[in-house]
Amino acid sequence: MTAFRQLTIPSARRYWLRDARVPTCLLAAPTEASPRDIDGTILVDLLIDDGRIAGIAPAGTAGAGEDPTVALDGRHVWPTLVDMHTHLDKGHIVTRTQNPDGSFTGARESVVADRIAHWRQDDVERRMAFGLRCAYAHGVSAIRTHIDSYEGQVETSWSVFRRLRDAWSGRIELQGVALFPLDLYRTEHGLKTADVAAQSGGVLGGVTRGSHEDHRVLLDDTDVLLDRLFQLATERSLDVDLHVDESGDPAAASLGRVAAAVLRNRFKGRVVCGHCCSLAVQSEELVRETIALVAEAGISIVSLPTVNMYLQDRGDGRTPRWRGVTLIHELRAAGITVAVAGDNCRDPFHAYGDHDMVDTFRQAVRIEHLDHPFGDAPALAAAVPGGIIDVSAGTLAIGGAARLILFNARTLNELVCRPQSDRVVIDRGREVTDGLPDYSELEIAG
Ligand SMILES: [Zn+2]
Repeated sequence: MTAFRQLTIPSARRYWLRDARVPTCLLAAPTEASPRDIDGTILVDLLIDDGRIAGIAPAGTAGAGEDPTVALDGRHVWPTLVDMHTHLDKGHIVTRTQNPDGSFTGARESVVADRIAHWRQDDVERRMAFGLRCAYAHGVSAIRTHIDSYEGQVETSWSVFRRLRDAWSGRIELQGVALFPLDLYRTEHGLKTADVAAQSGGVLGGVTRGSHEDHRVLLDDTDVLLDRLFQLATERSLDVDLHVDESGDPAAASLGRVAAAVLRNRFKGRVVCGHCCSLAVQSEELVRETIALVAEAGISIVSLPTVNMYLQDRGDGRTPRWRGVTLIHELRAAGITVAVAGDNCRDPFHAYGDHDMVDTFRQAVRIEHLDHPFGDAPALAAAVPGGIIDVSAGTLAIGGAARLILFNARTLNELVCRPQSDRVVIDRGREVTDGLPDYSELEIAG
């Protein structure tokens, strides 16, 4: 067996990756290949030609011709991953603006102060580009970022978004979501921001709390504001992606209200709700009702496990008692589409992270028990979010771009146990050698 570090990705236009182990949940279509192992994976030979996957054949097919061949000896090959819920505009401010106590309120107030003091064009662009470079080096090729869209900020941040989206086109597919508290849909600014999102090819978002509240307090006019949001989205043919019930208090109960609004408005676009933490602490009866409504409304859910672990159940001098994550297994059992994503990175909402969806997957397995068996868990970081946000990334498809991650792991256990810092990322057939940006590059602004 060739040592992983000695494998060389050919510079030839056409080559084989032989004896690659791929999770069947990451294949765009079923393929004839050896039986699945206990992890739900099969052994295949992948033919790469002109930057695309030209063939996914049973192991043993490669080697007959003259094309160069990389012998993977049963190591895992995945498509590049999809991070469908991030905040690139908040990223990496942790070194200048800390969360004073690690709480949700501390995070909210710290980010507001940092935004007002620092979020000029060069600052936002430097940090967003840094995040994209991290993600690309780690093997992420589609990202949806929420963009804080307050008055006085919306033009700056969305112009940076549009420029970076165009600059990264081909390497990372970047989507933007307009984010602000729900009460701003009462204002002209809400209307104006919906127009900016529409003109930028974006998505309409929001957080189901008031500007000065946390998620425990439901606004009196929540239903009216949700109707307004879905009306604005309908008029502009926008999808909707909301921050919902990011709290461990059962009183945070807006998920059912969002589902009812989708049904009441007969909304035709796609709807995603992120977080939904409090669902895990509500009564069985309310959970049953809410899950039924979410299923009926066709809402997809994205769980943000690392950020939930960081913020939820935090108290001064107190040990956290719960993991903070939504009812991922119960939602899936009800037929609801559920993905995982990275969320905040090195900001007051989450002091850690590196825009690395492999790390998010490894942590999600532990935090959310996506194991014994793993089943289709890898899809939650790849094919499933790719489907929710409608990008081609996250699956291995014949004819699709050869965007791959090669792991020095023959089983999912080996993949999950180590950080996979030595993974090889391939973009359109070529090895990505950019490496991670150095933190010092963030310090130019002082
Ligand atoms: Zn978020």
